[in-house]
Amino acid sequence: MLQLEECQFMKICFATHNLNKLQEVRKLLGKDFELVSLEEMGQKTPLPETKDTLEGNAFDKAAYVFSNYQIPCFADDTGLEVEALNKAPGVYSARYAGPQKDAEDNKALLLAHLAGITNRRAQFRTIIAFMSSTTKQQFEGIVKGHIVEQPSGKQGFGYDAIFVPDGYTKTFAEMSLKEKNTISHRAIAFKKLLDFLKTNFD
Ligand code: IMP
Repeated sequence: MLQLEECQFMKICFATHNLNKLQEVRKLLGKDFELVSLEEMGQKTPLPETKDTLEGNAFDKAAYVFSNYQIPCFADDTGLEVEALNKAPGVYSARYAGPQKDAEDNKALLLAHLAGITNRRAQFRTIIAFMSSTTKQQFEGIVKGHIVEQPSGKQGFGYDAIFVPDGYTKTFAEMSLKEKNTISHRAIAFKKLLDFLKTNFD
């Protein structure tokens, strides 16, 4: 285990080009870790996601960064899994309605596929893959809920306007970002990563 003095500003790469995610995770990690983005490492283009599982994509991205830059790194992948659709759109959530990756098209297609179906159960699932010279670890965050009949709310992104988490009567898109971030699949997975980093690298 490393001592705190050795790694007070331990440098870790988050394999993302999404600045919102980067800022969110920087806040979570605090000042013991220096979080750098892919762009800051010199990687200008997004890494491809070619696998058919969230785990496959997350590990591919982390492995690419580790083999090119040799610093501890992690990558994430998230999908919306709908029970009645055999867990679709899942790993294809971003491009469910086509390569244009349009959130309005994706939501409309999902609602069309669920028309007349009473089982609306669904979950968001995030996988984070972490890789260093000594470790390969995976962290999962899940939020269960259901898909509503009509989109509602203006906050957030992706499928937020059609997903109501269990224990709530409003969609993710009707919550403030702060409220969503305290219960979200991503927050759960990143808290697990943070606990792991603090336990193993503090
Ligand atoms: P990514 O792996 O975080 O890029 O997520 C892939 C896709 O899943 C996104 O393009 C969105 O369509 C969807 N998605 C991921 N996270 C969320 C979320 O928190 N709310 C709504 N949709 C999400």
